[in-house]
Amino acid sequence: MTHRIFNFNAGPATLPLEVLQRIQEELLDYKGTGMSVMEISHRSAEFEEINDHAIALVRELLGLDDSYHILFLGGGASMQFAMIPLNFLTSDKTAAYVDTGAWSSKAIAEAQKVGKVHLAGSSKDTNYDRIPEKIDVPDDAAYLHLTSNNTIHGTQWQKFPDVGNIPMICDMSSDIASRQREFKKFDLIYAGAQKNLGAAGATLVIISQAMADKCIEGNLTMLDYRTHIKKKSLFNTPPVFSIYVVKLVLEWIKKQGGLQAIEKINRAKKERIYQLMDSHPDFYKGTVRPDSRSWMNITMRLPNEQLEQKFIAAAKAADMGGLKGHRSVGGVRVSLYNAMSMEGVEKLAQFMEDFKKAN
Ligand SMILES: *Cc1c(COP(=O)(O)O)cnc(C)c1O
Repeated sequence: MTHRIFNFNAGPATLPLEVLQRIQEELLDYKGTGMSVMEISHRSAEFEEINDHAIALVRELLGLDDSYHILFLGGGASMQFAMIPLNFLTSDKTAAYVDTGAWSSKAIAEAQKVGKVHLAGSSKDTNYDRIPEKIDVPDDAAYLHLTSNNTIHGTQWQKFPDVGNIPMICDMSSDIASRQREFKKFDLIYAGAQKNLGAAGATLVIISQAMADKCIEGNLTMLDYRTHIKKKSLFNTPPVFSIYVVKLVLEWIKKQGGLQAIEKINRAKKERIYQLMDSHPDFYKGTVRPDSRSWMNITMRLPNEQLEQKFIAAAKAADMGGLKGHRSVGGVRVSLYNAMSMEGVEKLAQFMEDFKKAN
């Protein structure tokens, strides 16, 4: 038997076992081609089918109509930090950003290299322990940029703000497809595949036609969204293998019952861990304000660093990995992406109870 652990890594992250097994089955001979999916042409009928199906599944699962284009681009979510201002931040406008953590800050730093940035809200002064309750967006902002889930700090927007006609853009890298959301509120959504959607390489970009019409003229070809829209992400060789894995993961989500069913499971998973923390608040100390708690990344501190190290090591010895907090914040982080089963969460919760008793 292959040895598998419960993998609580923040990203790249756990994948559904049946998806990995399907990859394994198809690896040497993809659908009778006698080639691996890594070896086929990105212009072949086989890949076209994978790409079209992945696009259709994103549309179906997120409830988006044809006014949205669905792309799979390279460069990670980090490339989007650059592409967004390069396409939409004209010299006569300001881009509004909410700073809710390390990833937002990186997005802001890129936009500042391109043009004027207005800080519409921030929780930096309290170590990013919450989603700011108030934001202010200039009437003429080119767009408002949010980060829906803050992977490192463990916060998540529970309700998105209303900002009238200003286009909204969201980095959903670590909570895309994890619950039902108002996706249609946004003109552009992006997410690296390696947390909730598959293997690293592809970045999902969802962009409305209205937003595509706003792209600045004269951009370099590869950095212009319209290049990729025109060619269905096939202007150059896309991350073929990663898109294939995304397609399999989306099929798996659909089989679970879509986002409604996934949301129900994810709600139960995070409640199990938060309730446990709340019953031992002096031992498992949450680092964020309860109203901003993330469903995907639960961050906590133990009474001291030595205990944290002991916790992480003992969990690893019991086949539960990836629980170390991000190096910039320390502590313990439990990532509960879609592919983490309730069984894994139960096992961790029991471990946490036992560890508390023994220490
Ligand atoms: C992981 C992550 C990123 C960075 O993704 P890359 O694909 O490595 O560029 C950006 N934003 C958020 C919210 C993330 O969780």
